[in-house]
Amino acid sequence: MGEIIRAVGAEDMVKIAVITAPDIAERARQIHHLSPTATAALGRTLLGASLLGNMLKGEKDTVTLRLSGGGPGGNVVAVSDSAGNVRGYMDEPRADLPTRADGKLDVGGLIGRDGTLTVSRDLGLKEPYIGSVQLVTGEVADDLAAYFVESEQVGTAVGLGVLVGTDRAVRAAGGFIVQLLPGAPEELVGRLEENVTMMDALTTILDEDGAEEVIRQVLKGMEPRILDRERVEYRCYCSRERIAEGLQSLGTATLRELAAEDRPAEIRCRFCGLDYLFPAQELSALADGLGKR
Ligand SMILES: [Zn+2]
Repeated sequence: MGEIIRAVGAEDMVKIAVITAPDIAERARQIHHLSPTATAALGRTLLGASLLGNMLKGEKDTVTLRLSGGGPGGNVVAVSDSAGNVRGYMDEPRADLPTRADGKLDVGGLIGRDGTLTVSRDLGLKEPYIGSVQLVTGEVADDLAAYFVESEQVGTAVGLGVLVGTDRAVRAAGGFIVQLLPGAPEELVGRLEENVTMMDALTTILDEDGAEEVIRQVLKGMEPRILDRERVEYRCYCSRERIAEGLQSLGTATLRELAAEDRPAEIRCRFCGLDYLFPAQELSALADGLGKR
């Protein structure tokens, strides 16, 4: 399990949400057989989605992050429920790149910078609320911060980190989103920027001292006060019914073709890797169902 801690500071002019959830990144790694760089890329995206999901108001609301940067990793997608439970996938999970000169995993290189970050919030209305920004670095955190500033006009700093061990397993993973309330004094903006610049490496803090230390460092000198804590995990909502709906979207002709094969269609959930078997009879029934509409 992971955890999201929400806190405020500077007399409620600053709010922060911190996530620490190595289990989420590790689960993603195991489901998708992610390379080390892909573990960091999808891991950061999942953690960012979780933080955004946790901000949603309605219980059934969801948020989807999609990074399409044209890099060798392909598209990276993460979906969160309103508590911050997440699931995700990327097009090329095994793609990897050499580490950068500074020793860090080259997430920006794997995702690419030639494209967009799209944030889609499904608030139960007819259409989802969709916002999109050009990728800044493809490192995920910078791109999310740009999204908040450009698309929502909220002063925001974002940090996301996944520490992968030499055995390829996730050692630490977490992040934060810190936002200034409208009308926050300029002096506070400067102090926050300084704190974020001066803080220790995020994954080091999480690995050695935990999430509360992130709050102490980012809101240094701002008398932070913790509001609440929420458990979050990697969670898929797939079901036979949902997969069947997906099959039906292929159309009658494709369903009949699949039914004509002498073995059942095997459909794998792209979020959790669970296999669903659909025998010919059931595929024909799905096609019949479409025909009656
Ligand atoms: Zn699933």
